[in-house]
Amino acid sequence: MNEDTHVFYRNPFTTYPVIARGEGAYLFDTKGKRYLDACGGAVVSALGHNVPEVVEALKAQLDSVEFAHTSQFTNPPQEQLAELLAELSPGGLNHAYFVSGGSEAVESAIKMARAYWVQMGRPEKWMVIGREQSYHGNTLGALAAGGNRWRRALYEPMLYQRPRVSPCYCYRCPFDKDPAHCALECADDLERAILEVGPEKVSAFIAEPIVGATAGALVPHENYFRRIREICDRYDVLLIADEVMTGLGRCGTWFAIKQFGVVPDMICMAKGLAAGYVPIGATLVHNHIVDTFHNRRNVFQHGHTYMGHPLAAAAGVAVIKYMQQHKLVERSKKMGEELITRLREALHDHPHVGDIRGRGLFCGIEFVLDRATKHPFEPELAFHRILGETAFANGLIIYPMGGTLDGRRGDHVLIAPPFIITKAQ
Ligand code: PLP
Repeated sequence: MNEDTHVFYRNPFTTYPVIARGEGAYLFDTKGKRYLDACGGAVVSALGHNVPEVVEALKAQLDSVEFAHTSQFTNPPQEQLAELLAELSPGGLNHAYFVSGGSEAVESAIKMARAYWVQMGRPEKWMVIGREQSYHGNTLGALAAGGNRWRRALYEPMLYQRPRVSPCYCYRCPFDKDPAHCALECADDLERAILEVGPEKVSAFIAEPIVGATAGALVPHENYFRRIREICDRYDVLLIADEVMTGLGRCGTWFAIKQFGVVPDMICMAKGLAAGYVPIGATLVHNHIVDTFHNRRNVFQHGHTYMGHPLAAAAGVAVIKYMQQHKLVERSKKMGEELITRLREALHDHPHVGDIRGRGLFCGIEFVLDRATKHPFEPELAFHRILGETAFANGLIIYPMGGTLDGRRGDHVLIAPPFIITKAQ
């Protein structure tokens, strides 16, 4: 099956085991090998595999209807899921725009920000600014807003140019400050960037509350987002929280941004929303944006064929109910503390472990060649990949990431097991 494939995204130089089944925190291949899935692929499987309650909910939905286009019908699961998300999200984010994945959620937010400012009589506002060392998706708008230089490189001529904004990266502070005494220079860097472009052009700022794929569970300074919110308000810039990885309990609260004391104007989410059972994404939108459209008797001009798909929404509802019944968000917080404590105990004097960080069951390890200087490994070595492959060969799946580090690749792994993980596992 590996040598001659018609699947284009498969790397023909790699031999992949064939997946047979999943159960709880484990995956099994067709040769019977068992893997502890400690990252849910790319931080997707929040509940673990083959949870009967979710499988039953999907079967029940298929028994009633598999698809009815949202321009012609609404469907009970999408209404129910939107209601649940309105209850769980921070104040005022009461409207859900359902799509099929993370990039689509971000793309929708980018276009919604532009459309909102047009409604507001400010049509010159269009640019969404993101930070360095961020990832917001692979579609052109999301790629343009993000700061993953490696993913951008090939498509650079097709992307709009935006100013560079520093990440909030306390382990390697871009301003050489001690986080205990800094003046949030990294947050003020957004103000500099907005003024550089001209506030009249900037529609929104997008950021992951805790950075995932490019930086390994990077937790910001506790006051960072408050300052960001102030800056956004000062210049009429919407704040978009990209919670595609962190959303729905991953960081120990339903939404990670809640931990930083601000309410964004939009939240993008995807992976944990249906926990991998069916593809789905959503952009949660604040009342004030929706009201702006509706008060003018307008709608947001956008849409995808599969938005609000009944099966995907039914999966989302079943996942949230399961999490509520089994108190899995609380469990993510508790088990995450356990995981980070244990990792710190075990690795605190390891010569190549630079930093261990995260919130909830969203844990990152940054590896370095030299602990004292924080000097990274040579990018050509792809140390993270060696780690990932070695773990995989030994039946443990973690998420290795080249990340980005001052324009070069760094070495991180993410450990993000399902919330049902046990201490022994
Ligand atoms: N935003 C963030 C923060 C992500 O981590 C990802 C994917 O890893 C995306 C957006 C894109 O999501 P998708 O791969 O579902 O398009």
